[in-house]
Amino acid sequence: MKVHEYQAKAILRDRGVSVPRGVACFSVDDALNAAQELGGDCWVVKAQIHAGGRGKGGGVKVVGSIEEVKKVANQLLGMRLVTHQTNADGQEVKRLLVEEGVGIDRELYLGLVIDRATQKVVIMASAEGGTEIEEVAATTPDKIFKLFVDPGQGIDDADVSALLERVGLAGDHVEQGVLFVKALYMAFWDTDASLAEINPLVVTTNDKIIALDAKFNFDDNALFRHPDVVAMRDTDEEDPAELEASAVGLNYISLDGNIGCLVNGAGLAMATMDIIKLYGGDPANFLDVGGGATAEQVTEAFKIMLRNPDLKAILVNIFGGIMRCDVVAEGLVQAAGVVKLSIPLVVRLEGTNVEKGREILEKAGLDMVTATTMNDAAQKAVAAAQG
Ligand code: GDP
Ligand code: MN
Repeated sequence: MKVHEYQAKAILRDRGVSVPRGVACFSVDDALNAAQELGGDCWVVKAQIHAGGRGKGGGVKVVGSIEEVKKVANQLLGMRLVTHQTNADGQEVKRLLVEEGVGIDRELYLGLVIDRATQKVVIMASAEGGTEIEEVAATTPDKIFKLFVDPGQGIDDADVSALLERVGLAGDHVEQGVLFVKALYMAFWDTDASLAEINPLVVTTNDKIIALDAKFNFDDNALFRHPDVVAMRDTDEEDPAELEASAVGLNYISLDGNIGCLVNGAGLAMATMDIIKLYGGDPANFLDVGGGATAEQVTEAFKIMLRNPDLKAILVNIFGGIMRCDVVAEGLVQAAGVVKLSIPLVVRLEGTNVEKGREILEKAGLDMVTATTMNDAAQKAVAAAQG
């Protein structure tokens, strides 16, 4: 689960990590009040969407007067912000963060993720923070330094100092930085975060170390123990297809391709996507209907997939174990009666009650291509999507 920058900063502030003073705003009036309340003579108005690259996309404005706060808030609210992390339509801006402006001396990068290979938390730091960090990672990855923290042992001050010195901090900046990183690590740990990114981490012109931006992702499997995090969920920022699917108990992830996949079991779903790729196709989604999908769920799955205008073919790949092929077949027939299928449907059934399942499909006279093996199914689906 993702949260907005202002929410990530609230989590950090509560845990003693330095962030600028700021107020979340939902209207131009909110923004005006916030700027007045914050005082000073420099403000930053920041579009809040669940995507990065806002600065380059025109979603972050540093302004020097209340009139400008108003003008920029007016501009940003309701606009569709396009960044390299959104799709071409962009994401509608519904919330703003108005902050006190901060004088920047240096912009650093700081990121925490879980490294599955070592089962540790990796703290990554670079002196090349700011909006070009992707470029740094791609062209000069040696400018990103890493510290691996064993969660069982916790974080060590001397290791953090050494990391910060490598990215050019010295003296009091290192001392402040160590406190910052330790508090950030605890925030990451306590909330079961999967990613925490501070870009930029800045040294201010008053020699303060502060998080100018903050991004947090959380492990969905641990959300049950963080109701405060769940309360921050903004479904406006989430994929409507994925939301709908989760409401009916389906595991659905939208992808860029054009072959819809309806599969039972996450492992088989992954393998199905792989084999589509192998034959030169591109899956439009990951969809695991689970071990005991009902006809209703299969129907919903079809509806959700068919809402994708790019869809050129659907591949149903079911291995009947707990899930019986006849139940899936009935689901397909029922779904075909409800939704209008205007694209080719390739079906491969195998396993428990497969004969009964095939019989049901044949009797119903569904317009579909049947396949035997996974290879056969993938090749037929790719051909159908291309033709
Ligand atoms: P992102 O582009 O979505 O990552 O948004 P950021 O919050 O990182 O903002 C982008 C850039 O705006 C930063 O790298 C800074 O250079 C600039 N910026 C953000 N806040 C301030 C501020 O308070 N003062 C100044 N001078 N620049 C800021
Ligand atoms: Mn940033």
